[in-house]
This record gives sequence, C-alpha cells and structure tokens, in this order.
Amino acid sequence: MTFDDLGLSPNLLAAIKDAGYTAPTPIQAGAIPVALTGRDVLGIAQTGTGKTASFTLPLIERLSRGRARARMPRSLILCPTRELADQVAQNVRLYAKNHKLTMALLIGGVAFQPQKEILDKGADILIATPGRLLDHFERGGLMLMGIEIMIVDEADRMLDMGFIPDIERIFSLVPPRRQTLFFSATMPNEIVRIVNTFLKDPERIEVSRPAQTAETIKQYIVRVADGSPAGKRAALRAAINRDGVKNGIVFCNRKRDVDIVARSLQRHGFSAAPIHGDLAQAQRMKTLADFKSDQVRILVASDVAARGLDIPAVSHVFNFDIPRNADDYVHRIGRTGRAGLTGESITLVTGDDKKSLANVVKLIGSEPETLALDGAATPAAAPARTDDAEGEVKAARSRRGGRSRTRPATDKPDDQAAAKAPADAPAPTPANDAQKGKRAKPASKDAGVEAAGFGDHVPEFLLRSALG
Ligand code: AMP
Repeated sequence: MTFDDLGLSPNLLAAIKDAGYTAPTPIQAGAIPVALTGRDVLGIAQTGTGKTASFTLPLIERLSRGRARARMPRSLILCPTRELADQVAQNVRLYAKNHKLTMALLIGGVAFQPQKEILDKGADILIATPGRLLDHFERGGLMLMGIEIMIVDEADRMLDMGFIPDIERIFSLVPPRRQTLFFSATMPNEIVRIVNTFLKDPERIEVSRPAQTAETIKQYIVRVADGSPAGKRAALRAAINRDGVKNGIVFCNRKRDVDIVARSLQRHGFSAAPIHGDLAQAQRMKTLADFKSDQVRILVASDVAARGLDIPAVSHVFNFDIPRNADDYVHRIGRTGRAGLTGESITLVTGDDKKSLANVVKLIGSEPETLALDGAATPAAAPARTDDAEGEVKAARSRRGGRSRTRPATDKPDDQAAAKAPADAPAPTPANDAQKGKRAKPASKDAGVEAAGFGDHVPEFLLRSALG
C-alpha cells in the first residue's frame, strides 16, 4: 500500500513526500481512510507506530475547507503532556505546510496571554493539555461549540495522570455531532468506559509494537550488591561506561531522584541532564533539543516526563529503578532498538526489588542470565537516604482526585517532591565522557557491582499482550 491509496489530496501527499515517508505504517493505513469518511476511530497503538500522522493527516484534510472564527476552534487534539502536545504541533506544522490552517498550542508552564491572543484570532486546530485548556475555557477565552473533530491522544496515560475527569468534562463541552478519533496504547476498563460513552460506533484499529523492537533490544539486569542510592549511582556509572553506549535515557521512579542522579552524573564528568515536570517548559524543550543534537548524552527522566517524547536512535535505556509497573518496563525499553537499530537496556536491581523484578519476568517471559560487569568504585562519603515518596503517577492521580473546578494556570503532571538531597561527593573531575570505554573492563567475579543478565529477546507475542 502507498500513501496515494489512502484518499489524501495532492497537497498533503507532497508534504508527506517531503517528510521522507514512502509507505504508510499499519495504523496509518487502517485509520486514515476511515477517518476521512468522518467516522469515529478507536486506534490502539503506541508511540513509534506512526499514530500521530494517522490522526493529523485526515484532520488536515477534513479541515482544508472552511475557516475558524475567533475563540471558536474547529478541532481539538488533547495530549497528556506538554512535550507530547508540542510534538503533535510539530507534526501538524510539517504536514500542513501546504495548507492555510491556523493552529494554537495551549500548554501549561508558558505564558497565558499570548495563547489567548492566538485563540482570539481563530484557530482551525487547537492542541492542548487538559488543564490549560480548561483554564482558558473557564476564563471565557475559548468556546468549544465549534469543534468538528476531537482527538484524544494517549488516553491511557491521561488515565494514569488522573486526567479522566477533565476529559469527561471536555467531552461534555464539545458538540455531540462531532467526529472523535481516540488513541490509546492499552485499553484498561476505565478507558473502555470512556470509549463506550463518548464515541459513536467507532472503527477499532489495533496495531502491535513494531516487531524489530523485540528483536533488537538486548536486556540486562545488574544486581547491585550495595543497594543504597550511592551504590546504585556507582552501578549506573559502571553501566554507562560499558562499550557501545552512544547515548541513553536513565529512568528513575521518583522525580526527586531524576535530579539527584542527573547531578551526580554531571559531577562525575558525564554529559547528563534531567527532564521532569517541575522544570520550566523552555528548559525541558532545550534539554530535549540538546539531547537530540547529541550535545547531551544522557537524559535522566521520569516515566511521565518521558512518555511520548519522540527521541530517535537511543543506544541504551538504563533503569536506575526497576519500574513498579511491568508495563512501564516495556515502554521504557522500547526507547531503544528502534527502526532496526540494536540497543541495550540495563536495569539496576537491589534486594528490595524482588517483587517488581518478578512482575517484569512474568510479563516478558524471560529467565535471567548471569553477566558480570565491573563496578565503579563506590563513593565513600555518600550518605544513604531513605525515599518514601510515592511514584509520580500515583501522586498525580491523588492530587488530581482532589482538584476543584477552578485550577491554576499550569499543568503539573509530576509530583511536587523537591530534590534537596545532595548528590554524590564530587569526583576529582574525571572527564568520564571523554574517557568512555577506558574504565569498562571485562567480566570480573569480585566486582563491586554484581550483574545478572536477562534474556536477549522479549518475545514479540508477549510484547503484544503487554501492550494490549
Ligand atoms: P509516532 O508513533 O506518531 O510518534 O511516530 C513515530 C515516528 O515515526 C516519528 O518520528 C514520525 O515522524 C515517524 N513516521 C510516522 N509515519 C511514518 C511513515 N509512514 N514512514 C516513516 N516514518 C514515519
């Protein structure tokens, strides 16, 4: 199948060609022709499948005739995070470059007034996170009765973040005679309920994660004998110092640890930067841009902040903490081994992680193998900390649960825990990135960090079931 077979106009086909795409992905081939007819679509697909183009292309096509009136956008794309909203906006700009459509991006963490001015001029396409959208609505700067097409992206992540009440409210504010395109990677009961309530006889299009992901990710587990935060940071450094680590994302379960780990890596000479919801929007965008342009080598992230980030070609994923939710493990490691490239994931496991590890093993169906990794010297002066902070998703959920209808003018997807604890004692400026590879040694029995490998492959059928 080619893009010419999908019913798109020459203007769009030209933009697609300029983007360098030669053939539609399965979700695009399935969703675009249906969406063009005006029918509702339930797309079950996750990041990396080309889902964004599967809703932005028919959206642009269907809006190509007509004009938006002031404060009355004609379409709405709801995204769970600012970064995802920004990426969707970049996609729209790319594909709509041969159209005269106007677009407004309403996200938290940036000034309110310029967004209002853009709305006042009229927007064909409104891309928003739920909190900021409702802020504008409640302040009277936005009317939703002109919405012809409503799109919900990453609905299951909206659920994780406690946005479902907001989504239900927004559905109640848009006209019933609209088209709805609804995307989710998984279909938990709450999402099924939303679909049954707000979509009209949708065509269900389901795709699995691209098969090459499973085949090209080599997974390891590093058993950290010293499970203190400092011990884990030493193990992380040893893991990053392995041969072949071009760039990577380090995932932490707690936002405060994102800052601590990033700072620790910087002090040890690594090119690293944190990304989480407490950072200013401009800072997050800059960090992401620096990472994409190889100026930052290691991105330290929380699940919520990283979700939906369009990061091509990451050689490594490091789980500083094994995720509590096994599904998150699959999402995280899916950041490497993309598009046929090989990648590695390295997960640190301490004595406290038995249950989480068992869940991951059960989900991916692999038996651990043993692998030894030479440990970095454990810093002597690093104080052990106890972390009792809840995971950011859980915290966000409980916070959202108590929200009033009047909200502050920011979206805060992450928890509020401040990163006050000190990072490791500074190393005497070893330019680790410059020396990359020199410190990595072959397997050694008496290493400070004992490592256990994982099966090389996640069987594809298990990935499919994991991803719904
Ligand atoms: P998404 O799943 O929407 O996040 O898209 C993942 C990546 O695939 C993005 O970098 C897109 O630019 C890219 N992409 C989307 N559609 C295609 C296509 N038909 N061919 C090649 N790449 C694509």
